[in-house]
Amino acid sequence: MFEALRALPADPILKLMVQCRNDPNPLKVDLGVGVYKNEQGHTPIMAAVREAEQKMLSSQTSKVYIGPAGSELFNHHIAGLLLGYDHPTIKDNRLVSAQTPGGCGALRVAAELINRSAPSATMWVSDPTWANHVPTFSAAGLTTATYPYYDNAAKEIRFDSMLATLEEAKEGDIVLLHGCCHNPCGADLNQQQWQTIADLLLRKNLIPFIDIAYQGLGDGLDEDAYGLRLLANQLPEMIIASSCSKNFGLYRERTGAVMVISASADASKVTASNLMNVIRSNYSMPPAHGASIVETILDDSSLTQMWKQELNDVCVRINDMRARLSQQIAATGCQTDFSFIPKQKGMFSFLGVTPEQVHQLRDDYSIYMVDSSRISIAGLNPHNIDYVAEAISSVVKA
Ligand code: PMP
Repeated sequence: MFEALRALPADPILKLMVQCRNDPNPLKVDLGVGVYKNEQGHTPIMAAVREAEQKMLSSQTSKVYIGPAGSELFNHHIAGLLLGYDHPTIKDNRLVSAQTPGGCGALRVAAELINRSAPSATMWVSDPTWANHVPTFSAAGLTTATYPYYDNAAKEIRFDSMLATLEEAKEGDIVLLHGCCHNPCGADLNQQQWQTIADLLLRKNLIPFIDIAYQGLGDGLDEDAYGLRLLANQLPEMIIASSCSKNFGLYRERTGAVMVISASADASKVTASNLMNVIRSNYSMPPAHGASIVETILDDSSLTQMWKQELNDVCVRINDMRARLSQQIAATGCQTDFSFIPKQKGMFSFLGVTPEQVHQLRDDYSIYMVDSSRISIAGLNPHNIDYVAEAISSVVKA
């Protein structure tokens, strides 16, 4: 039966990772893969995570099933981290949360719930957006459309075009917004723009869907949740997909959460029953380990403090690398302006160079990035930043 299948092209980022791994050049730099790396180029296990795991090992007594919603304690703390522990939607029983296998699991489950409730709704995503958004939503049966978001030439958000396009959305459509640290462009809405979007969504009866995979890596935990909280305070309904992959460094443990805010407590009960049903018929229940780590940390004030400090160090390092890349390129006398890099947030920015220049960086300098010129800032460190800055400068000058 499998003769009907046709081979699909390899994922460009995975292909790039293999190419970089096989490159013998000792100066090689991987700016492709979207994982955090420390100054030594290593993706470490956070100290708070290690301590939590040790604590869990000595206290865990059972591996019994945890149910479709996952851990209640985890869901409580993630809602607290995202919305604030005393958020009205929690007190008013309008919020339903479920622990999911990573942010991807949350996106897929939410998309299936939307398809069940509003199959003719269009899911509007930013142009550009994370490469896995459209495939995930399409696989769940949703129709997607794009709104303009990033201006590659001006290096800023195309806010007027974004608004103009969203004016064309029909009542009940869903608008996917990156909560912070936009992947791939690093350009986030400012506070005024969030308010303008909130007004538009409310007026046109559109439903916000926030994907937040980098809380704490942009400006800080609360600052990065600004837009999400503003929408949760002002709109009757909302969907959130969150990930603990980056801010807890739990990538392979597949830890995330889906949250749905409904207009009333009664509506929320119906939403909850459908959400659990979608999960049950999908992967049945989420894996426990990563969520146990997160709840162990967030339920213990000293572990929470330790984690917040480590996360802050990550955030500071990323922002420092952004500033230094821009400064170092300018210091080479390069005429091209890269001062937009420190103004952007999180793990990614587009360098804004051509695909030919991307290939030149790869072939002549062993610096790896995807053809769009998206770079993973955490691939930079004090040992390679001068080399990367000089290579970029000489490639754009040539
Ligand atoms: N959304 C965005 C924007 C992402 O960048 C990612 C991770 N790269 C995710 C969701 C999902 O992350 P995960 O499934 O690994 O938790």
